[in-house]
Amino acid sequence: MFRLEELGWNEFFATQIARGELETMVPARIAEENREIYRVFSPEGERWAELTGKLRHTAGSRADLPAVGDWVLLRVPDGAQRAILHRVLARRSKFSRKAAGKKTEEQIVAANVDTLFVVASLHHEFNPRRIERYLTLAWDSGARPVVVLNKADLCDPASIHEAEATIAGLGVSSVVASATRGDGVSQLHAHVRGGTVAFLGSSGVGKSSLINALLGEHRQDTKEVREGDGKGRHTTTTRQMLLLPGGGVLIDTPGMRELQLWDAAAGVSSAFADIQSLAQDCRFRDCRHESEPGCAVRAAAEDGSLDQERLASYHKLGREERFLEAKQDAAVRAKQAKAVKRLMRGVNRFYRDRGR
Ligand code: GDP
Ligand code: ZN
Repeated sequence: MFRLEELGWNEFFATQIARGELETMVPARIAEENREIYRVFSPEGERWAELTGKLRHTAGSRADLPAVGDWVLLRVPDGAQRAILHRVLARRSKFSRKAAGKKTEEQIVAANVDTLFVVASLHHEFNPRRIERYLTLAWDSGARPVVVLNKADLCDPASIHEAEATIAGLGVSSVVASATRGDGVSQLHAHVRGGTVAFLGSSGVGKSSLINALLGEHRQDTKEVREGDGKGRHTTTTRQMLLLPGGGVLIDTPGMRELQLWDAAAGVSSAFADIQSLAQDCRFRDCRHESEPGCAVRAAAEDGSLDQERLASYHKLGREERFLEAKQDAAVRAKQAKAVKRLMRGVNRFYRDRGR
């Protein structure tokens, strides 16, 4: 059983409930989504829910359907059936990506995040511009960002201060942390303030380690999931929404983890400033640094002045970016073609009618 407040419920959601609605329905929070079957936490406990046909059919797009972190209203039938999900409450914040499916579509990867921990490593790759990109994502989403400067144990005090000052200059709070030593963990808890948090940041900066530090001894939580039919089953996947010891909710979806990659793809040029500057010496303006003659970037990779792996990740991200762009273009072109067709039908009708 959960109390609503411990799931992150607040005034923002309470005011969306119409009088009488709670006589037949309960508020619940989406903890996991799997092909339109939803695991929900509510004062009625933990259970599985499915959409009403009406909700499915009135949803204009995938983004109108529930996502992890969403608050919904459910009807819980008597007996041992799945709960029925009637309404998705308006979101306070959302993180989305463009899903490259049959058509490029907005996909919500986490909803109603209050505080976003943007994690950066103080060691090696401290890159304020990358942090700014993540901050942009946070502000676009509606969540309040806090920059976590991790791996302080590997860094001297002077450069820690410098990094702190840089972040302060961006007008954002920061926490100096070391997941391995446990520094800063209590400050992270203080920023949670009973709200909902999520983590964002490049691979390897220490997000998982910090999450484990926040979860403390609860991290090996293998609680049983009880389905409505009474059959228990063990969860094998990592949980996407967890209650933090000491209050607060953590959202950690695979989609949220991928944002790091998609964000990097969108920012290929800024994240790879070194390659960009080498590229000015390539023979061709539009050199892709693949097999073009006179490529300065590949030359640098060959003579060792540019890390081979760095060039490889540049190519990988570049390919993903182009792929996504192509998908979007195709979607846009299809839409335009439809609009032109509609327009031409109108024009033809006009001339036909006039000819009468
Ligand atoms: P993620 O990819 O952002 O989830 O990063 P991980 O949590 O998997 O950490 C990547 C690596 O950095 C692992 O080897 C961690 O042990 C290490 N790491 C994480 N936090 C710290 C830290 O504060 N100090 C040090 N020295 N290593 C850390
Ligand atoms: Zn080149």
